Amino acid sequence: MSGWDEGAVYYSDQAQFPRGGAGGGDPEAAATRHSVLRKFKEFIRGFETGKNVYPYRESLVQNPKHLLVNMEDLHNFDADLPAKLRSSPADYLPLFETAAAEVLVNLKSKVAGETGEMEDPLTGEVQILLTSKEDSVSMRSLGAQYISRLVKIAGITIAASRVKAKATYVTLLCKNCKNIRVVPCRPGLGGAIVPRSCDHIPQPGEEPCPIDPWIVVPDRSKYVDQQTLKLQENPEDVPTGELPRNLLLSVDRDLVQTIVPGTRLTIMGIYSIYQAANSSNSHKGAVAVRQPYIRVVGIEEAN
Ligand SMILES: [Zn+2]
Repeated sequence: MSGWDEGAVYYSDQAQFPRGGAGGGDPEAAATRHSVLRKFKEFIRGFETGKNVYPYRESLVQNPKHLLVNMEDLHNFDADLPAKLRSSPADYLPLFETAAAEVLVNLKSKVAGETGEMEDPLTGEVQILLTSKEDSVSMRSLGAQYISRLVKIAGITIAASRVKAKATYVTLLCKNCKNIRVVPCRPGLGGAIVPRSCDHIPQPGEEPCPIDPWIVVPDRSKYVDQQTLKLQENPEDVPTGELPRNLLLSVDRDLVQTIVPGTRLTIMGIYSIYQAANSSNSHKGAVAVRQPYIRVVGIEEAN
């Protein structure tokens, strides 16, 4: 499986809601998901900063590729929403992006005078970017308690990788029975969770499908641009006698190629962990070394 998606890894983020699945069959989770989606849509459509001034709705029409959301605005609209985003950003950000895409479709169809019927799931069409006035936390304080949470960090970018194509959905083909399966990929530096076996039941005279029968069909998979950056602690944050610490960042879509090395930044992102695919293959059963990184969901340059 290696080679088709550089940096592909197989670590589970344990998302509360599977991507694309409406609550994963749990009716309570599906109901929560539905009500949060509705609130996000109400916020984008209805948040007012003055009489008849709707900044998010207008921003979405002007630039449909991303929507910069101020956490304080979200808090003023409904305190539950930023709380959910902070505690489970990997679950609620995709929902926010779906909400933005659906609002956009409705706004466009109103302009065109059509009805707003949904055709495809729109997650990922509009990128939600977050900004907040809160204080950033020190790179040194990041530990297990921050994993999978939204954090704000300051530093200087000291390196930027080249841009890569990162798969968001992969189409797999069983080389035996030609079955097709589409599997989602974990966001950030996470890879696809590829099943080991094919569920095709062999008919009389048919060869049963072997273990690991899947090959990736690249032109039927979905990709976004992705780049990694290295962030170093600001000199004033480094205790005397210590070396500055570094943190790996991953950025995607509209954030790719917006930052050059040497820039001072504050970023908002999801403190995440990945495990390199080769380390799990070559040391089966050994305790895997897991590397922390931040999946960036908002960047501000601090000059
Ligand atoms: Zn098969």
